[in-house]
Amino acid sequence: MNTVMCPECGEVIAINPDEVELASRLVCEGCYSTLEVVAEDPIEVAVVEVDPDEVEDDDYDEDDDI
Ligand SMILES: [Zn+2]
Repeated sequence: MNTVMCPECGEVIAINPDEVELASRLVCEGCYSTLEVVAEDPIEVAVVEVDPDEVEDDDYDEDDDI
């Protein structure tokens, strides 16, 4: 088990290297920032700025052909 430090708040986050890969995303339990894995060895994470407007709404019905 590896740990990384949240770049936003300093929270130490446990990461299982077998479960993450480049571009994997996780959420900091300290500040709820979305973090993205930017390096695997050693594991580094960067804060991802998530724009609410860019979040895909899977519930949106795109079957409207009109
Ligand atoms: Zn954090």
